[in-house]
Amino acid sequence: MVLHGGCGKLQPTQEEDAHRAGIARALDSGLAASEGGGSAVDAVESAVMAMEDDPHFNCGYGSVLDFNGRVQMDAALMTSALEAGGVVNAAGLRHPIHAARLVMEETDHVLLGEPGLSEFLDAVGIDRTNDMVAPNRLEEWKRLKAKFGSGEFEGFSRNVEFYRRAGNEVSEGRFSTVGAVALDDSGLLAAATSTGGIRMKIFGRIGDSPIIGCGTYADRYGAASATGIGEQIMKLTLCRLAVFYMRSLGAKAAVAKAVDEARERGFECGLIGIDASGGLGLDFTTSSMSWASVDTSCRRRIFGSDARP
Ligand code: ASP
Repeated sequence: MVLHGGCGKLQPTQEEDAHRAGIARALDSGLAASEGGGSAVDAVESAVMAMEDDPHFNCGYGSVLDFNGRVQMDAALMTSALEAGGVVNAAGLRHPIHAARLVMEETDHVLLGEPGLSEFLDAVGIDRTNDMVAPNRLEEWKRLKAKFGSGEFEGFSRNVEFYRRAGNEVSEGRFSTVGAVALDDSGLLAAATSTGGIRMKIFGRIGDSPIIGCGTYADRYGAASATGIGEQIMKLTLCRLAVFYMRSLGAKAAVAKAVDEARERGFECGLIGIDASGGLGLDFTTSSMSWASVDTSCRRRIFGSDARP
């Protein structure tokens, strides 16, 4: 199994330590779920759910806010049996990845979004909450709003224009979306990704994470999950690209080759992958990425303290 907790620049040492502790907990949770016959799907769902509960990651409770201060989340899960499910623009959900799993298992569709998603969630008995804005995210949003106001904000130049025309100011990118890929004893591969999207996004924006082949993908050759600027990742269909390379390469080389294509274009992203033999891969074009892994010899590694697998 490999997990990511987003790419970008982590602030030393407090934020970095929090990510390291959180991703180690998520790895434990994924491993515990796979014990006693749990599948790769159980493992990736459980690992991602642990990060959805942790406000240091941009998903579930820790989701970043959009320009207007609202939380809207995307998540998807896919297996090597080509089963897939996802939710887009979900609100009030602590565990969007669980909802994505239910879309995969309970419906004939791949993606459900609001406003109909709520009806589905009611039907399958998933509770919603109003308590979705983590205090650290509210502080961050206020700070970014102030930067927009003073014109110090970097990036999103078209959005800046869009909001200026609407009488507002605009955004800045850093990514802490989460993802997990795993292979189980039966040979099933799974990939899962969950995100609050990009900080200060326009209401209704959907990123790469729930789009099959872009932020999440699995087939019989491998599984992959991405993080970074969704608008760039989508244009490369990055996860599908990496898994396609796994037809002839191990995960390590396949992920590196796909990420090289992003690097050539100056794109900001990170990627994790696993191949059908349990080979692991991870790479990123940004200054850092939080990650954790456990290989087929049960060797655990955590970013910052271990070499990459
Ligand atoms: N890829 C995510 C998105 O664009 C953001 C992230 O990785 O943090 O929605």
